[in-house]
Amino acid sequence: KDFRNDVKPNWCPGCGDFAVQAAIQRAAANVGLEPENFAIVSGIGCSGRISGYINAYGFHGIHGRALPIAQGLKMANRDLTVMAAGGDGDGFAIGTNHTIHAIRRNIDMTYVVMDNQIYGLTKGQTSPRSMFGAKTKSTPKGSIEPPIRPLELAISAGAGFVAQGFSGDLAQLTRIIEEGIKHKGFSFINVFSPCVTFNKVNTYEWFKEHIVNLEEDPTFDPSNRSLAVQKVMEHDGLVTGIIYRDPERQSYQELVPNFSEAPLVNAELKLSDDVFASFLKEFE
Ligand code: SF4
Repeated sequence: KDFRNDVKPNWCPGCGDFAVQAAIQRAAANVGLEPENFAIVSGIGCSGRISGYINAYGFHGIHGRALPIAQGLKMANRDLTVMAAGGDGDGFAIGTNHTIHAIRRNIDMTYVVMDNQIYGLTKGQTSPRSMFGAKTKSTPKGSIEPPIRPLELAISAGAGFVAQGFSGDLAQLTRIIEEGIKHKGFSFINVFSPCVTFNKVNTYEWFKEHIVNLEEDPTFDPSNRSLAVQKVMEHDGLVTGIIYRDPERQSYQELVPNFSEAPLVNAELKLSDDVFASFLKEFE
């Protein structure tokens, strides 16, 4: 299936988000999805445009609120494969609470964060992922706040699938997203997606120099939660691969008592006039 559409992305040439878009399109095709059964909900920021660039259902949400919309979508129609996507400002500033609670709630969906460590759409301010000391328009003398640590945050919130990719490695990123889509539960995927226009420190070259691919580490085991945290901390978060996976963790849908097998959107509304009238009476 072809998940490309005719819309030409208006990202800057070289933006890491192009690779994320390509990886999602390839992963969706590789796992055998149909465009009509796939929905992408995005937030606000350069990354938020992604929902319009993929041949699937797209919903461009509001800042930091892609996750509540995506979770509602999945609960209403469990036949859809649902993905939320947004930037590090979206997921780790205004939307941090949704990120944490969506992870622990564990509704079966995938969340891709396009992490460029800066606010790109508003032309280069410090984001919650900017490095300590980062000099930007909003912190000209250097940021004095340490960055959010997405992998430790996701693991400690109880995620059953945590991964990190890099826009400079499309093959690995595609594979990670495929695995995230297949995972039954909430999949958290952070992606180093360089902003080539406003972040002149965390460039493709910088990541290539600093990243450690944990999939090439023979001592690593992604089913071992404490080892995963240990490795992430050892490399200061600059790791890629599937970091932690617990296929046994039950999803929200599996734990809801008597949750309908059929999607709620297809359920018959069984409210008789009597029931509806007595319901309204309660508000009189
Ligand atoms: Fe990408 Fe940065 Fe350009 Fe936004 S400003 S499109 S994040 S390179």
